[in-house]
Amino acid sequence: MQLRLHAFDLPLAHTFTISRESITSQPTLIVELEQDGQSGYGEATSNQYYGFTIERMARDLIGVRPQLEATLREPGELWSQLRPALKDDPFALCAVDQAAHDLWGKLKGQPNYKLWGLSTEKIPASDYTIGIDAIETMVAKMNEFSGWPIYKIKLGTERDIEIVRELRKHTSAVFRVDANCGWTAEQAIAYSVELKGLGVEFIEQPLKADRWEDLARVGRESALPIIADESCIVESDVARCAGVFQGINIKLVKCGGLTPARRMIAEARKLGLKVMVGCMTESTVGISAIAQLLPLLDYVDMDGAVLLAEDVAMGVRLERGRCVFPDVAGNGVKLIRTGRDPLAQ
Ligand code: MG
Repeated sequence: MQLRLHAFDLPLAHTFTISRESITSQPTLIVELEQDGQSGYGEATSNQYYGFTIERMARDLIGVRPQLEATLREPGELWSQLRPALKDDPFALCAVDQAAHDLWGKLKGQPNYKLWGLSTEKIPASDYTIGIDAIETMVAKMNEFSGWPIYKIKLGTERDIEIVRELRKHTSAVFRVDANCGWTAEQAIAYSVELKGLGVEFIEQPLKADRWEDLARVGRESALPIIADESCIVESDVARCAGVFQGINIKLVKCGGLTPARRMIAEARKLGLKVMVGCMTESTVGISAIAQLLPLLDYVDMDGAVLLAEDVAMGVRLERGRCVFPDVAGNGVKLIRTGRDPLAQ
């Protein structure tokens, strides 16, 4: 294979705010692996919370270039070979694992979900995420994307219940809420009752990631299911989430790609946990990788590319939350823009 790296700044359609930060554009790194005239693409966004920059990911990937020059046999095998060198950079590992899958499927002439023996006949619809803002702006954002079956509302403000109550006046869609670690246990338990009455289906990560005792209490006393996000990063976290949370939100960049994500899904199922896969604010490259997992999921949050003002690829897209697969093998990705060299000064 041949490795190429493309860096982009993805401009967002609207400033996106969650409980701990606000962004107007999202730096991202696209990994290209080429073999036998086919190119596979994978993606990892930079992330302040988890401490990954484009430069760091690019340097780590250049470090494993010799291993990538071998012929691709199977993505899972490549993942195991790269993992020792990239164990401290799951974001880079994720991008290269997605690219290997996209390439592998393209070389085989089939979408990855089919190569895994799955069918897209029954798959969950994606939510559309509404970041924190003035209440009237949040209503306007939802109305701009009207007709979606599910909205995910970012909370962690002084007026959380008021926000949901106001949004509820404008739609009968399902709501889910994500506090991104912004609540106390008492708030979470009290809010859960009111939110249930407002048609919310679950609460994502109400408390800080390491508050396991408080999280367990919320899990027991909440009127709504609690889904782990910041508390469920890697494969070894899944078992710890059972008995505390009712489900987990897997993110490909956090765990290191499709290869470990599939193992986490299998383990979560065995433990009776609901399974969601979430996105960062990535382009269609990352979203198309997530889409391959859809037949295995209860919930999905894959609206990253919808939040962008400008995309860098074609592939899987969403029509009001419904996933539309392209007639392209692998993850279905075609890059349509050229990025910059991530290590150029
Ligand atoms: Mg979340």
